[in-house]
Amino acid sequence: MKLSIRDIDPAGKRVLMRVDFNVPLNDEGNITDDTRITAAIPSIEHLTNAGGKVILMSHLGRPKGEKNPKYSLKPAADRLGELISAPVKFAEDCVGEVAEAAVADLKDGEVLLLENVRFYAEEEKNEAEFSKKLASLGDIYVNDAFGTAHRAHASTAGVTEYIDTCAMGFLIEKELEFLVTKLEEPKRPFVVIMGGAKVSDKIEVLNRLMDKADAFIIGGAMANTFRLAQGYEIGNSLAEKDKTELALKILKTAEENNTEFLLPADTRYAAEFADDAPTAVTAPWEDGGAIPADQEGIDIGDKAIEEFAAKIAEAGTVVWNGPMGVFEKRGFDIGTKAVGEAIANNTEAVTIVGGGDSVTAANQFGFGEKMDHMSTGGGASLELLEGKELPGIAALDDK
Ligand code: AMP
Repeated sequence: MKLSIRDIDPAGKRVLMRVDFNVPLNDEGNITDDTRITAAIPSIEHLTNAGGKVILMSHLGRPKGEKNPKYSLKPAADRLGELISAPVKFAEDCVGEVAEAAVADLKDGEVLLLENVRFYAEEEKNEAEFSKKLASLGDIYVNDAFGTAHRAHASTAGVTEYIDTCAMGFLIEKELEFLVTKLEEPKRPFVVIMGGAKVSDKIEVLNRLMDKADAFIIGGAMANTFRLAQGYEIGNSLAEKDKTELALKILKTAEENNTEFLLPADTRYAAEFADDAPTAVTAPWEDGGAIPADQEGIDIGDKAIEEFAAKIAEAGTVVWNGPMGVFEKRGFDIGTKAVGEAIANNTEAVTIVGGGDSVTAANQFGFGEKMDHMSTGGGASLELLEGKELPGIAALDDK
């Protein structure tokens, strides 16, 4: 077990906390979605309420190691100041004299946000001197940036070498609870739903969960690769033609393992990827279904929706990672919406949505609130499901 923010006494201490304030900004530099800021508030307020001096650091965008006002965290500091009652200050640098002076000025219960750590190339290189400079600003380190926990950077890993007490915040604690602990002895049946573009991106998760899951549900362009491998006509569909052997191997392993492996019974297709483009649904694949040569599979079909929803309704645990179709386009989002709805409606199950596109989809369709856990990390949540150790978590103290 990793040391948690609950286990430390921050009173009168300088607590250096890595958060994920990598928020989307519009052309005028205004924040268009402050979910990541609000998500960090429980950890921040836990520390300020206990009398800690809270020093926050984060990255924003990809400034490539150079100071660039376009990627300044100042708007995030302003927004945080509106959301919490503690005073929020901002330092125009994350290391050196400016940062040191701002930290020295900080009173118990106050918050300081440092400027973008990626204004220094040393951050992503996990450079020791830079890590040391960051570390000199805190007595205690807390990591609550799950989205970057799979990266060994100065602010997520290097810094822990130079601070004695290093703990996880509430966000990382919850990610571990749902993506690791709850899946050790999952409530059964355990149904894993995978979609998105590529089999190759998700293969490690499939392999890792093959022994644990009772059923897999596959959608998205991933499913096209399986249907191609089985010898069906998939027309112009996006598929990984060099992964058909791999797809057949997965099907065989699932069969040997007695793990149910549900591919979409039918597929929705269209001639082009455009909002409201005309679509049609194949006959069930196993009854002679095919996608015409000039058309591409863009979503799961109606029979597939019915079968998937029935399987999801009886699940005890659901993990969902990846959309069932090109949900960003109007009219191509039917399968993703239906699957999201089926998960949200299964109130008996432990429901977990892996980060990235599935979280966007769940929120877009208004099901976010009904899920037990919506991961705050895309790559990081996949790596946890793959059973990998994340450097930003491994570097924290054990209890
Ligand atoms: P991933 O990042 O691997 O989860 O893939 C998500 C992307 O896969 C989304 O942008 C979807 O639009 C896309 N996608 C899902 N189904 C299909 C499909 N049938 N054909 C092409 N792209 C798809």
